[in-house]
Amino acid sequence: MTSHTRIVDPAFKSATRIANVGVSKILAIGARAAALKREGRPVIILGAGEPDFDTPDNVKEAAKAAIDRGETKYTALDGSPDLKKAVAEKFQRENGVDYALDEITVSTGAKQILFNAFMATIDPGDEVIIPTPYWTSYSDIVEVCGGVPVLVPCEADAGFRLKAEQLQNAITPKTRWLLLNSPSNPSGAAYSASDYRPLIEILVRHPHVWLMVDDMYEHIVYDDFEFVTPVALEPKLKARTLTINGVSKAYAMTGWRIGYAGGPKALIKAMAVIQSQATSCPSSVSQAASVEALNGPQVFLRERRESFKGRRDLVVSALNEIDGIQCRVPEGAFYTFAGCGGLIGRVTPDGKRIESDTDFTDYLLETADVAVVPGSAFGLSPFFRISYATSEAELREAMRRIAAACANLR
Ligand code: PMP
Repeated sequence: MTSHTRIVDPAFKSATRIANVGVSKILAIGARAAALKREGRPVIILGAGEPDFDTPDNVKEAAKAAIDRGETKYTALDGSPDLKKAVAEKFQRENGVDYALDEITVSTGAKQILFNAFMATIDPGDEVIIPTPYWTSYSDIVEVCGGVPVLVPCEADAGFRLKAEQLQNAITPKTRWLLLNSPSNPSGAAYSASDYRPLIEILVRHPHVWLMVDDMYEHIVYDDFEFVTPVALEPKLKARTLTINGVSKAYAMTGWRIGYAGGPKALIKAMAVIQSQATSCPSSVSQAASVEALNGPQVFLRERRESFKGRRDLVVSALNEIDGIQCRVPEGAFYTFAGCGGLIGRVTPDGKRIESDTDFTDYLLETADVAVVPGSAFGLSPFFRISYATSEAELREAMRRIAAACANLR
């Protein structure tokens, strides 16, 4: 993919499977921003994909108690019985979907769930349909596993959502998976039941295509948007759908590294084979903490949602006031994906022409001390992603700087 910093060293030969894969551009921008900060520049980083609040106290306490009880050994390979039970109850309670314990898997983050699933199912040349803009790891993991990412552009005026005819046209005999993410990183767009239904109809007509849904941002939705997961809408899909979720974003537990999924038994077993040869079980202490996250009080989710909503509204309205920038109101997650097409062709005070979204985000970082990520990193240009998981004061200052930087373009 074009969005990477590749490993280039004549003395080192990498395996072919990582020839097109590299370190994420998001991390590269983060590193550059951190370097500028070290030089004493007041950089505001709106790049990180993690909540700014802390892991809830009851979850931390559960982890400490697990350590004190001696739960510091290997657990069952793909999840302790306690955590699988908590996950099954979560799917039942929140999504209305029944998964038996042997239809549930737990991994070191949802990222490993994706990795296990693709490793376990993809043969060279198999295709995975990925609507763009997409979370960069999707296509990279598919490539590492020898598959072919089939990227389908979903424009802002379509709400960044895949349309039925686009799905129909992308399906070939080699299609193995369709991968959907709602609410989306990076666009914040989410699929309602009526958005999903036409896609589900197509999938029902193509039984060789399996569905992977990434519901990671399920709990971060705004206004009266009603989150739904496809298997709840069409039980026929359950036999070929992997429903992915995790504790990272909802419970501010990115560092604990626990993700989980529900899916057909044979797939779950195949994924365990990969996990057994890669990492064995996820951290026992983190699993105990995740049981508490899923079973414990959930009221704080609503409070945090309200706080994120205030920040979303602040950022979206500030961006839409800037000449040359357009931003749709996202239904969920903590990202905005704004169009900067109106700025392409303008010239910076130093006489440099803005030719792309990367030129624009470089300009913001170098002259306005604001780090955001260009749309090219997510497969759709000209856009840029802002993560608004930071304080309102910082967001206000960042918006002021972005507006001033844009006003300086001629
Ligand atoms: N899915 C999406 C859409 C994400 O944004 C992320 C984190 N950036 C993940 C999955 C992975 O989450 P984790 O591995 O922390 O569970």
